[in-house]
Amino acid sequence: MSVLAAGPCRLMLVAVLAVALSGCGHSDDRDREVPGASTPTRQASAATPTRAPVTATRGAATATQESSGFKAASGSKASSGFNTAGTAGAGNTAAPGGIQPSTPSPAPARTVTVLGSGDVLIHPPLWQQAAADARAAGRSGYDFGPIYAGIAPVTLAADLAICELETPLAAPQGPFSGWPNFNAPPQVLTALKAAGYDSCSTASNHTLDQGYAGVKRTLDLLDAAGLRHTGSARSAAEAARPLIMRTATGVRVAQLAFTFDFNGIAVPAGRPWLANPIRIPAILAAAHRAKQAGADIVVLSMHWGAEYDHDPTAEQADQADRLLASPDIDLILGAHSHVVQPFQKLHGKWVAYCMGNQVSRHAVPSEGSREGVMARFTFTEVAPHRFVTTRAEAIPTWMQISPRLRLIELRSAIADRQTPAGPLAVYRAALGRITAHLDSLGGRRQGLVIA
Ligand SMILES: [Zn+2]
Repeated sequence: MSVLAAGPCRLMLVAVLAVALSGCGHSDDRDREVPGASTPTRQASAATPTRAPVTATRGAATATQESSGFKAASGSKASSGFNTAGTAGAGNTAAPGGIQPSTPSPAPARTVTVLGSGDVLIHPPLWQQAAADARAAGRSGYDFGPIYAGIAPVTLAADLAICELETPLAAPQGPFSGWPNFNAPPQVLTALKAAGYDSCSTASNHTLDQGYAGVKRTLDLLDAAGLRHTGSARSAAEAARPLIMRTATGVRVAQLAFTFDFNGIAVPAGRPWLANPIRIPAILAAAHRAKQAGADIVVLSMHWGAEYDHDPTAEQADQADRLLASPDIDLILGAHSHVVQPFQKLHGKWVAYCMGNQVSRHAVPSEGSREGVMARFTFTEVAPHRFVTTRAEAIPTWMQISPRLRLIELRSAIADRQTPAGPLAVYRAALGRITAHLDSLGGRRQGLVIA
């Protein structure tokens, strides 16, 4: 009955090749193309940064699952040249001015950066792009790497990167399908892994699109790709194990994931553990269990809100308030609305109400559905195993759809002198809109940095 979902029962070294894209919402056709706003020509770097693979282990003697060695090197997964200034050193307790204390100085406060991002929404044009990119490289199959290359420096640099996997995954050879009953190419996992993602939420309104078989296949494929997961489960035992991941500095971060609905699909009788519906008492209990199981930080992925609405619903606001009032929940990463919603600090902690879409290609794309953010939070240890948020950042993204589907990290693209004037204007406009959405509840006054 536990709502805690666990990571893989075992890891298989399987190269997953696939591309899947599908739309999530019911109202894709409401979107409307904006003339002139969809033709940026900047291409993401063809070189996809890589890092050492996460080594996942499982404590046989405990009820939790952990992965260790999250970062290949202390400090960050990869430097990548991306500006992460300000994410380190907050709360540093080192002696100032080079004065050597007569007694050993305390160890520097540990910090950890947790990054979340919007819906991985694999519509058919995305897997067609991945097939074209594979062909262009002289290969068959699907290569989502070029789509993700533009954000990889950011995701690789996070201590812990969490993705929002909106859709079930098909077998590598298909058949694939888009909205309304998604079955996405699992080859996208190769790109997510290469981009530094560590875990994914699998709780969404599409979790049950392909029934129990789809849930099981999706989690098997995530295991095979070396990605942890939470939000759905293959068994009651798996559902009962909290997902707790350990960074290179030994910080234990738990992730929990829940969704408001399954698009009307009933959870099968006899398998109430298959996926996690939003029930506040159950979430609070799950978070408490995760803390009791040793988690230093509990991150909550919430699939919620109204589609295409930039404002959180009253229900979202109420739920965020109740959840963050708990000492057991340290951060809420929201998804589902397909548009960016504000970040807000409540009870000294942050809720990113909705990070928008990450990758998508709606039948009729809108500006809003092409906008997204990566949410990056720095936690600093202020007492043994007690962490507080010391920095909140939003890193805006834009889904380029022409001439190729590419995920653009806006600030870098705008700073790139090689970006032509046309796309540059599009990027600046998108950044302005995203900034306004993020700040609509006064997040910047509360300390949100829009990077
Ligand atoms: Zn959704």
